[in-house]
Amino acid sequence: MHEFGIMESVVEVVREEAARAGLRRVERVAMVVGERTAVLPEALELAWEALRDGEPFAPGARLEVEWRQAEAACPACGLRYHPEGGFLLVCPGCGALGGELLAGEELRVASIEGE
Ligand SMILES: [Zn+2]
Repeated sequence: MHEFGIMESVVEVVREEAARAGLRRVERVAMVVGERTAVLPEALELAWEALRDGEPFAPGARLEVEWRQAEAACPACGLRYHPEGGFLLVCPGCGALGGELLAGEELRVASIEGE
């Protein structure tokens, strides 16, 4: 499962950051995830719950995910649009191919809170 591997990396980041910040207990982890990462919200939450309870620093810690919509810019006409599925970016305004993806591929830990 794609999401399980992602959360294993997230738990590692949280463990390191908690140690650096001197947190004994992590209560909340915030992530930013773009819609083009193909991550499923339910699977991400399940993986988090399975992994966090095996960590002494994060039992019951909440995961908050901010989902980012994808946005692309057309190189020909400059239009900013929401790209529909698939890997190909096609401008809905002028039909040009190969737009630049401005958002939607985010996958990161935004913040960690605890005490
Ligand atoms: Zn265009």
